[in-house]
Amino acid sequence: MAKVELREICKVFAASGRSGDGKQSASHTAVDNVSLNVPDREFLVLLGPSGCGKSTTLRMIAGLDQPTSGEILIGGRVVNGVAPKDRDIAMVFQNYALYPHMNVYQNMAFGLELRFKTSRLQHAFSRVLWPSAACKQAEKRAEIDRRVHSAANLLGIKALLGRLPRQLSGGERQRVALGRAIVREPAAFLFDEPLSNLDAKLRGDMRREIKRLHQTLQTTVIYVTHDQIEALTLGDRVAVLNQGQIQQVGPPTDVYRRPNNRFVAEFLGTPPMNVVRGRFKPGADSSLAQFAAENGWNLDLPADLAAQVSKSSGDAKTGLIDIDMGFRPEEIRLHSGDGKLPELERWGCRLGGLIALCEPLGDAQLVHLRPNGKFSPEQENREKSLLVCKTTATTNYQSGDTITGYVSRDQLHFFKVEDGQRLSWGATQVDGDRAHQQQRKPENS
Ligand code: ATP
Repeated sequence: MAKVELREICKVFAASGRSGDGKQSASHTAVDNVSLNVPDREFLVLLGPSGCGKSTTLRMIAGLDQPTSGEILIGGRVVNGVAPKDRDIAMVFQNYALYPHMNVYQNMAFGLELRFKTSRLQHAFSRVLWPSAACKQAEKRAEIDRRVHSAANLLGIKALLGRLPRQLSGGERQRVALGRAIVREPAAFLFDEPLSNLDAKLRGDMRREIKRLHQTLQTTVIYVTHDQIEALTLGDRVAVLNQGQIQQVGPPTDVYRRPNNRFVAEFLGTPPMNVVRGRFKPGADSSLAQFAAENGWNLDLPADLAAQVSKSSGDAKTGLIDIDMGFRPEEIRLHSGDGKLPELERWGCRLGGLIALCEPLGDAQLVHLRPNGKFSPEQENREKSLLVCKTTATTNYQSGDTITGYVSRDQLHFFKVEDGQRLSWGATQVDGDRAHQQQRKPENS
């Protein structure tokens, strides 16, 4: 078991010759000053879009790539330059990487045989030629046998030990790949998108299996994925990466409910957070303000909320500075007209529009809303004007219906336009954000 530490890690891939137009291709920074502290026994997920540097980061921890600068520590020991086999880690890949000519037992035992410098053949020879060495060999063989059977038991693949990889399903192969990692009893496991090749049902099953394994084995895990469901369900903490840089590190609920910036807000969530850019302006009366969004929406907000957000953004005279406002689809409460409307003070934002489209999901539905009024011809992209709401499947909404939606204060997010960073506004928000920042480790702040 071990703590894994990354200190200001950079990876720059050198220019690799000329591109199609004859120009020298530029060098590429795949990992940009990443510092990360993964405590012993933690399950940390590296999450981000394709090409953001997740696999490169993992490969550097494994020793398969060397960092251009920075230090990697495993169990307190700097391992830059240490060979992968001497790092006491085990890696599980997306493509399983099983030896096709070896059966399951042999695949699982192979790494240990190399490490223990023993094989079935050596064992057989030593029994005849060097009886004194045979005893040691027998001990090593027994240990390998014990570990393989114990891992096979844990993973429910005992009955498959004699089969070749081609005689296994995708899920079974991935279990064998897991088993091969487990028998090594490493200080840390590294997973590189291990479930990507499996179908949806199997992914769910294996996800639970990996979570159970982590609870049983209590070993440090660093797990790379671009799948946010995997990240949120598996991780003790999730590190969100974009363009080689860490955007946020925190417990799953923290990164989901309190995103540090617009990238994290929009990357997490299905469908993603609604984010509209606009400015505040005075509302219908002094208790109200409006958020006039670029995409055609005019959203009502309590005037005090608008004033607090403006103040936090440095907008001395409310309404001069563009701000991004976000709210998650599941946080919009729809109100179709009859019945008493809630008091605005209880809500952070009110939107009145028309239903453009409903998408049933079985257990829920996505209701796409568009602003009141006709689309003008110059509104070239109508999609941009749509806000999406995720609501219960039971209400029957029709396209063209007029609708009012509400979002509560604590579910509104504001981001600065210039750098996308989260704006803390109002006493409750500022206190909440400060408390979260204090919980975060210094390297992640
Ligand atoms: P994916 O989810 O698609 O696997 P990733 O986040 O794991 O993506 P990496 O494989 O770490 O991304 O790659 C990060 C960036 O570095 C990409 O832009 C990729 O093209 C580039 N890259 C990776 N390996 C090399 C290499 N050997 N030479 C040059 N560039 C590379």
